[in-house]
Amino acid sequence: MLTIPQLTLNNDVAIPAIGFGVFQTPPDETRAAVDAALAAGYRHIDTAAAYSNEREVGEAIAKSGVERSEVFIETKIWISDYGYDQTLHGFDKSAGKLGVDQIDLLILHQALPSEFAKTLGAYRALETLLADGKVRAIGVSNFMVEHLTALLDKATVVPAVNQLEVHPYFAQRDVQEYGAQHGILAQAWSPIGGVTFYRDSGHSSTLQDPVIGKIAEAHGKSPAQVMLRWHLQQGRSAIPKSTKPARIAENLDVFDFELTGGQLAAIDGLDTGKRGGPEPDAITLASFGRPIPEA
Ligand code: NDP
Repeated sequence: MLTIPQLTLNNDVAIPAIGFGVFQTPPDETRAAVDAALAAGYRHIDTAAAYSNEREVGEAIAKSGVERSEVFIETKIWISDYGYDQTLHGFDKSAGKLGVDQIDLLILHQALPSEFAKTLGAYRALETLLADGKVRAIGVSNFMVEHLTALLDKATVVPAVNQLEVHPYFAQRDVQEYGAQHGILAQAWSPIGGVTFYRDSGHSSTLQDPVIGKIAEAHGKSPAQVMLRWHLQQGRSAIPKSTKPARIAENLDVFDFELTGGQLAAIDGLDTGKRGGPEPDAITLASFGRPIPEA
């Protein structure tokens, strides 16, 4: 069985360097996708309360025959459940749907800058869950430098990860560097540029990028594998998503080649500074709030 390299979080908890994402995977396809991922060797699944598929993720893991302790489960609290008491209850909802007593990594999905007091309350709840052993590590997602600074000013526990949009067309190097200085691991969402596939203008998808394509050809690998290798060699966690077994396996077959310094630099050079996902400041309760069902 394939051994996936591990990264070590700032509280010494180990996390597989490549995990499996299930955003936009419909609930009725999630079990099969997670099954295929576990069979291919993934041992880290990234879901979220807002993805409406935590239940199916938990069912697939439970039925897989893989020991619970061997699978790193990560999920996210949605903004509608921010605030201390609400987030404690948010844990109960997620753990209940996942069918687990303990979540390996629980993170805040967005910074919610317009109501940051709620965000701070939510983070305090994560700290309580960590102290109580209900979660093994805590973190954030889509936090920009100013949000991290404001959080660190009040937090007792430094977030273990910041999950953010990172792919060759949008690298967010400032956020990554700030995180590195504070011991916060950058975890790349849309690691192979999934969010760029749907852009109307500007440039086409990272998968069609000629620079990436040429590097892929040189190694006899696919563009997706080259991008994942770029994350690995730069020390990031990455969580590619697919519902197709062949691609699921392809995205984990990235441990037998190495990009040169020049190839890494060429990929770094593709950064457009243009975000594919929503502006973190545009995520408000008015525009994105929605109730998360009970378990
Ligand atoms: P990815 O970069 O993982 O790309 C996914 C897309 O690429 C899908 O359209 C998939 O299609 C396709 N694909 C997957 N593998 C290959 C391959 N080898 N060759 C060609 N195409 C491929 O983008 P995501 O946006 O899905 O991000 C990954 C994960 O990150 C999410 O699932 C989620 O867990 C997390 N995420 C977190 C966010 C946050 O705000 N915190 C926001 C967005 C994502 P198909 O399924 O048909 O194979």
